[in-house]
This record gives sequence, structure tokens and C-alpha cells, in this order.
Amino acid sequence: MRKKIVAGNWKMNLNLEEAKVLVSELKVSLDNHSAERVAQNRPTLPDVVLFPPYVYLTRILDVFFNYEGVSIGAQNCHHKEHGAYTGEVSASMIRSVGASHVIIGHSERREQFGEGDELLAEKVKQSLKNDLKVIFCCGEKLPERESGKHFQVVSDQLHKGLMWLEEDQLKNVVIAYEPVWAIGTGVTASPGQAQEMHAYIRGLVADKYGKKAADNMSILYGGSCNAKNARELFTNADVDGGLIGGASLKSADFFQIIQSFD
Ligand code: PEP
Repeated sequence: MRKKIVAGNWKMNLNLEEAKVLVSELKVSLDNHSAERVAQNRPTLPDVVLFPPYVYLTRILDVFFNYEGVSIGAQNCHHKEHGAYTGEVSASMIRSVGASHVIIGHSERREQFGEGDELLAEKVKQSLKNDLKVIFCCGEKLPERESGKHFQVVSDQLHKGLMWLEEDQLKNVVIAYEPVWAIGTGVTASPGQAQEMHAYIRGLVADKYGKKAADNMSILYGGSCNAKNARELFTNADVDGGLIGGASLKSADFFQIIQSFD
């Protein structure tokens, strides 16, 4: 059975003090709520994955050390194991501090840093080799949707960046559909648009790897998902959670999103 996941991508936001406040508030909410759920025999919360900037990784890992249901990951990694790459951080370094996840292919990396499909495929390879779970992002730009090319764009991104993997590697991969026109814009894909694309993506995985692999693949929605619209998006059969940017920076909002499956 595939997992429900709510992931918070902090991007280049928050200083250390702000980050500490955010995670301590979040932890209190999770503590209280988890105990309440057990007492009321309700299903457990979705898995939570936090993606702080590299420099806070160890601090945030300490806060959630051995804490069930919360994992910590990096927002990016370099595609090489080690070497003369000043300013870069490798997948093995990320794994060595105890982080378990990494985001690959975020549209901001594709756009602002020119990361193309081949490079992203190398990053995926490095990450899985170093035992990191990958959240692989895909999504079309507005003109691509308006000209009806969105399915083709997403298919290309997935086939080139990800779907050369062997089937058994997929268990360490989550796909995030993030239409670029919805990221940080306040414009959200409608529940229907999200479901349509998620079902299409699941179909692509099924065509290549079979129905079982597709059924087990968690597919997250990202793009101006917030405390108000998360519930409607998450009720769709093929939407298994969210990759949340702006709304992950406020503990109350993020926690409300985490509770949006009930
Ligand atoms: C993101 O950057 O992955 C994202 C979904 O951002 P936002 O929620 O702010 O649109």
C-alpha cells in the first residue's frame, strides 16, 4: 500500500532561530495529536518529511532523532560522489549526517540553475546509490499547459530523469507533480486538474513497471497547496499528499495540511 506523505520544502527561508521555533511548535502539535489519535483509535498521520536548507540539517535531525513518522531531507545534491566542486554537497554527505531524503528536479533547480534531464538522472543515480529516498519533481509551465502539451512534458521529464530505473529501485522514489504555474503563485491546480495528471503519471508508471509498482508509487501534488485547499486536493484517489513550499513555513498551517487526510 502506498504511503500518504506531506513534505515541507523550506527553500532558502528562515534563519536558525526561526527554524528552531518552527520545528519545536510542529513537534508539540505532532506529540499532542499522535497521542490523541491513539486514544481515539484513529488512523495515524501521514509521513512527514522536512527539507530545511543544508546548514540546518543536523540541527533538525537532532530535534526529530528516532521520532516515528518524521524524516529529514535535503533540497538538492550534487551529481558526483566527491571532488573539487566548491560550495556543493554530495548525496553521500547528506546520508552521512543521517538525512534520509532528497528533492531532485524541482522546477527552481531546472529553471534557475539550468538543471536538465541528464543531470537530474545522474543526481537520482547518486542519491539512490547513497541510500537516499528521492522525491522527483515534474511539471509543466503555463504556455505548455495552454497549448495542450502538459502530458507530453511530464512524460518526457519522467522518462528521461527517472524511468530508466530498475523496478526494485522505485520503492525509494516518490513523484511530485508540481505545475510550474502554481508554484509560489497562489494559483493552485484544481482538484480535477491534479487528479487528471496524477492518474496519467500513475498510468505511465504502470505502462513501464506494471500495475503493482504503480499502485505502490506515492504521487504528491505541489503548487500553492495550503491549509485551505489541501483537503480538497488530497481527497483525489491518485493524490497521495503534498510537497509544500510557502505554507510549510508556518507550523499551524503546515500542521493543518498534515491533518488534511481525515
Ligand atoms: C514548491 O516549491 O515545491 C512548492 C510547492 O511551493 P509553494 O507551495 O510555495 O507553491
